[in-house]
Amino acid sequence: MTDRSSPRVALLGFSIECNKFAPPATKAHFLARTYLEGDAMVAEARSANPTMLPETPGFVAAMDASGPWTPVGIALAMTEPNGPVEHAFFVELLDTIRRRLEAAPPVDAVYICSHGAGLTTEEDDPDGALFEMVRQIVGAEMPIAATLDLHANVSERMVQSIDVFIGYRTNPHLDMRERGAEAAAAIREMLGGLKPQRASIRLPIVPPTVTMLTAVGPYADMIDFGQRRMTPEIMNVSVMGGFAFADTAKNGLTVVVTARHDRQAAERLAGEIAELGWANRERFYPRLTSLDQAVERALAVGRDPSLPALAFADVADNPGGGGRGNTTFLLRAFHEAGVAGAMLGVFFDPDLAAEAHRHGVGASFEARFNRSETTRFSEPYTAPATVLALTDGKCVGRRGIYAGLRLKLGPCAALHVGGVSVVVISHRVQCADPIFFEMMGLDIAQARAVVVKSRGHFRGGFDEFFGSDQIIEVDLPGLTSPMLNRFEWQHLPRPVIPLDDNVEWLRP
Ligand SMILES: [Zn+2]
Repeated sequence: MTDRSSPRVALLGFSIECNKFAPPATKAHFLARTYLEGDAMVAEARSANPTMLPETPGFVAAMDASGPWTPVGIALAMTEPNGPVEHAFFVELLDTIRRRLEAAPPVDAVYICSHGAGLTTEEDDPDGALFEMVRQIVGAEMPIAATLDLHANVSERMVQSIDVFIGYRTNPHLDMRERGAEAAAAIREMLGGLKPQRASIRLPIVPPTVTMLTAVGPYADMIDFGQRRMTPEIMNVSVMGGFAFADTAKNGLTVVVTARHDRQAAERLAGEIAELGWANRERFYPRLTSLDQAVERALAVGRDPSLPALAFADVADNPGGGGRGNTTFLLRAFHEAGVAGAMLGVFFDPDLAAEAHRHGVGASFEARFNRSETTRFSEPYTAPATVLALTDGKCVGRRGIYAGLRLKLGPCAALHVGGVSVVVISHRVQCADPIFFEMMGLDIAQARAVVVKSRGHFRGGFDEFFGSDQIIEVDLPGLTSPMLNRFEWQHLPRPVIPLDDNVEWLRP
């Protein structure tokens, strides 16, 4: 123990959500978004517009506000959801964290920023491997608090290697900063001598993404119930929906409860929440709109300005779940049906963006979408286009999960393709923030139909324009389709809802 009046807290993290069906993520993907070591990590967390998601900035701000402390930046690697991380880079990251933790003067506590649904090309539980390694380095008595995305797939070693397990409670994720602050409060409490106890229960339910909203639905009910059952003894209740496309043996909706002293109280509450989820299991089946119906709705709002405008979510091609952001099914269908007054974004195609930059604003040309092959869903499509606007893609997020974050989308182009204005980007990101249209000079309020390549986080950014009754989730092929029966699963625990019949579960 160092000087208690100014405790030293190590900060570290590994944060990526990995889709086993998507191409691998490399070190370059982390370097392009957030890869920081040492003091640079702390400085970035304190900057006005950091590149990292807000848990670590929230943690640092809450520690700053709650008394003296000394942050010890170790390392943070964070990037957009993708395929499994190249194992060599993950090993390198673990080595860096180990070396820096061992070389630093003794710390009093550790904060870990983790997504929880990471994969490597050789390891299905890298978050657990990280937690376990940190515990081995710092010893059994050292307070460790971790924040996790509610899409985390939870392993027993993740739960057992740390002291306080803090998952997001909102989807779209608008409480990241608060959860970081909660971790800071937990660290302060543990520095006072508290040694919390945890319990976790996993259900044989792998919820499709669209059934995991927290405003309404079976998942929202579990979270609400857990929060209403908080007592002074209960430190945190985390209901982790998980991320199906990781395809691991640890998949499954998992309730993790941290109690201040009483492990049985944690077990009891985890069991009650799990029972509620199980009782509602029939509600974890997705209901989507067919492409034909989506085209009809888009045509109708284009014809009749008295109808409210609509947002069409391309939930199966969500870069926020590892999708490539470049399937052409909706673009092609809207264009060929003659849909007018529509916008579509953000379409990931660096070749096309570069070509538009060569042609210049006002030029007309044959736009070839997906000239380079990426996945079997990313079909080529060619259509006449006019360049409306060009930018370098640097922006600060305005609303929703990216609010205040410094983002680089690379060279961007807005193209007019028939009645559809398409925003093309060069660094893959999900369309969660209206700024991605606005920075191209497009006025969302004037659009009759807006197609977003996003599963659900767009709801936190586009809520100014579209209420939940104006949102259509479209059923299309893609790497992030909520129709889980279309994938060839290798490792999911079976039988499981929603894939199998006769799934049974008894509260332990
Ligand atoms: Zn998430």
